[in-house]
Amino acid sequence: MQHFPIFLALAGRRVVVGGGGDAAVAKLRLLLKTEAHLTVVDPAPVPEITAWAAEGRLTLITRAFEPGDAMCASLVYSATENTAKDARIRRLAQADGALVNIVDNLDDSQFITPAIVDRDPVTIAIGTEGAAPVLARAIKRDLEDRLSPMLGMLARIGKTFRPKADALPMGRPRRDFWSAFYFDAGPKAAEHSGETGAQAALNGLLTAHLHKEDREGEVIFVGAGPGDPELLTLKARKALDTADVVLHDRLVPLEILELVRREATIIETGKTGFGAAMSQDDINDLMVTHAAEGAQVVRLKSGDPSVFGRLDEEAQALSEAQIPYRVVPGITAASAGAAALGHSLTRRGRNSDLRFLTGHDVAGFADHDWATLARPGAVAAIYMGKRAARFLQGRLLMHGAAAETSVSIVENISRPDQRIVAATLGDLSDKASDLTGPAVLFLGLGSEAAAQAVTEAPATFKPLEKNDYPASAMEFY
Ligand code: SAH
Repeated sequence: MQHFPIFLALAGRRVVVGGGGDAAVAKLRLLLKTEAHLTVVDPAPVPEITAWAAEGRLTLITRAFEPGDAMCASLVYSATENTAKDARIRRLAQADGALVNIVDNLDDSQFITPAIVDRDPVTIAIGTEGAAPVLARAIKRDLEDRLSPMLGMLARIGKTFRPKADALPMGRPRRDFWSAFYFDAGPKAAEHSGETGAQAALNGLLTAHLHKEDREGEVIFVGAGPGDPELLTLKARKALDTADVVLHDRLVPLEILELVRREATIIETGKTGFGAAMSQDDINDLMVTHAAEGAQVVRLKSGDPSVFGRLDEEAQALSEAQIPYRVVPGITAASAGAAALGHSLTRRGRNSDLRFLTGHDVAGFADHDWATLARPGAVAAIYMGKRAARFLQGRLLMHGAAAETSVSIVENISRPDQRIVAATLGDLSDKASDLTGPAVLFLGLGSEAAAQAVTEAPATFKPLEKNDYPASAMEFY
């Protein structure tokens, strides 16, 4: 980020515009929305500017820019549309200690003006560091369409009501009150009976919330899916949006954590199969303690919480502590892996059952019904199977499975580095040995489909830049 977005207090401060042509007019239209004292310096300004000066909306100095013109100015815009004149104004204004923007000249500007969506006091600034003005305009258009013109009015009356709303306890009760106003009661009342309606709705809503029982804390087990944020459910998004505390496993990527409410406390429980991890008791304690204090706790698990996610153990700890909980399902790695393969997990005439297996469990390599799995046509999605690949291979071959049985390995499912490896039972342990990310082994799913499948991750999913998935975050249980 080369430019850091801030909102500058301009009320009562000086802003000077050098130049009096069309470029200056365009900037002035924006600046006139502020409460800044505007001064325009230009020997021959266009009539629009002289009219504004006549109305007392700005001060006009009809001569060329001179030393001292930018004295005490917070900002100076140079909009002469002439390179030499702009450079001169920049030099003079900087000598006077002002920050300078040269219109349409990013490189020589000390600050830039973003595209703005104005629902005063709600203001949205969109910047692309000059890289893609078309994109900024498209985003602006999109937001203009999406944000009700009433939003500013609601925010304005909401602001004056804040002292009254302080009667509610800080934290969740106040937040619940305000979201009920902005997203439900406020827009409804305003649509019906305008500003006075919205004002009345605030009073009614406050009374209702003041008499509300203390909200209990709760825990929501949320499935984060296999990694691509677009594979989150809408319920998961909502839970992340309203969470007070988020306890997440290592396999949940940064892109998803970015969606968590900004004020929430985010705690990594660091569950990796062989790395340092918080003990299960510590995790249970954290959930119970926070929820008992009234917090909305999101226990964020990769994939689906009910698949190899210790959901029951954690839920039991909550039941014992009488903390209410609910579960938001997620897309399990096997489903997303099958999607990557472009393949069905069940097929008429081939397999009418499907198994989700784990390669190892708390006691070591996991034992299974090998005889059934070794039958032709059997399909199983094997989680945490990388280290157990040789063991699985040995057991299945020993129970009569053909060495040619297809196994498709999908690594880093739904992530930018997703990879599909076609293997057979015969070469499974070799093929599995060079995997570095989390993987699901699909026993009985054809390699021909794997070879044809689209292996790229969705184009909208940006590759991670830093804090990539740690190499140790391959497997956990
Ligand atoms: N609850 C999770 C599974 C957790 S167990 C789910 O429903 O998906 C962890 C194992 O899941 C990993 O060892 C790996 O086998 C699998 N896994 C989870 N996310 C994965 C991903 N993005 N790509 C490949 N395998 C993944």
